[in-house]
Amino acid sequence: MKCIICDRETKYYFTTDFTTHHQGKFKDQLDKSEFYKCINCGFTFSKTLYEMPYEKWCELNLKAHTLFESQHLDSRLSNQPPYLAQASMINILATNNIIQNNLVESSQNGGGGAVK
Ligand SMILES: [Zn+2]
Repeated sequence: MKCIICDRETKYYFTTDFTTHHQGKFKDQLDKSEFYKCINCGFTFSKTLYEMPYEKWCELNLKAHTLFESQHLDSRLSNQPPYLAQASMINILATNNIIQNNLVESSQNGGGGAVK
């Protein structure tokens, strides 16, 4: 699979086992997630999530974020990702033709949650 940032080759990096990770709360939707890393720029992504059918990804995304957001701040193990900063960076990359302009549009038409 090619890197969505620089279009170079990626290699297997690690696997997260969701039968145990997060106390197995997502194992019905996701048993494992294989992560790949770009050999050129280091961008790391979940190939499993990237290739997941859109409807399945939406179900998993809603379940995961509902669980995280409903926890009291003191019991959270980590902060949520900086969504606004990530969206702004994707917009900057697309506006400056570093990634293809149709990448964001295609992610809204299926094929998982990652920008394609
Ligand atoms: Zn790359």
